[in-house]
Amino acid sequence: MDLPDEGALPAAPAWNPLAAELLGSGSVLLELWDRVLPEEQRAMLTESLGAGDERAARRVAAFLAGVSRLGEANPARMDSFGLGDHPSPALADARERWRTEAGRAGLPLPSAGDRPYRARPEHLTAAVLPRLTGCDCPEFTDGERCFDRAHQGLFDVALALNTVRGERLHRDEVAKAHRAALGAGWGAVRASLVGAVAEHVGLRTERLAGLTGAAEPDGLAGFHRLVARCNRLAAGGPAPDFARPSDPGERLRERARRRAGEAVGRLIQGAR
Ligand SMILES: [Zn+2]
Repeated sequence: MDLPDEGALPAAPAWNPLAAELLGSGSVLLELWDRVLPEEQRAMLTESLGAGDERAARRVAAFLAGVSRLGEANPARMDSFGLGDHPSPALADARERWRTEAGRAGLPLPSAGDRPYRARPEHLTAAVLPRLTGCDCPEFTDGERCFDRAHQGLFDVALALNTVRGERLHRDEVAKAHRAALGAGWGAVRASLVGAVAEHVGLRTERLAGLTGAAEPDGLAGFHRLVARCNRLAAGGPAPDFARPSDPGERLRERARRRAGEAVGRLIQGAR
């Protein structure tokens, strides 16, 4: 079972630059909820998430926005920095430095010559999230749903976070993505990221199954748009002061809150 064990979590998230981006999306959702979303939308989201009351729904939604890109924590994706269609000596140099720092920070990158299995991060997120937020059913082996009714909300919200080319995620692709989730150390990286986002937005992950038990999959059909908006706003704005692998968690959290406040402030200014 690879549920995050709070006592065992490192003081700083296992992979800080990605953690900084995830925390940013969670912070943006909190800011949007408090300053932008109309009351009817908040009420609708509270009902679709099945969270019971708005205070809980606000945290659940922020947590989900935060972990919506969790699937980017996989060996193929993380190892692709600096590789692409336009190789250059500068990029090769930057890649070398990136790999060294990533190795020092404990990111389990594949060795040269390994060919990690590839899957879209959207499918991967849906495949791994229920497992990291409370489903430890023994029959759950390949990304399909488990049979425990109390866990179905975890699967519903995980599937609602992303689309691929505007289409809802295919369960088959999600199940296949599980292969890409494997690899020594990656479960721990993702568990640590989930723990960091949960702590940041004030949600205990063991409560998520209960808080999403009454989720309505049809009502969540548009949730991915709000999530994508959070990711865009968190990534936009003036050039980011990128997180470094050595940054402590509190610094990441403080920066995520500040940048989210500024991004939503600009959005409100622009709407006037
Ligand atoms: Zn389960």
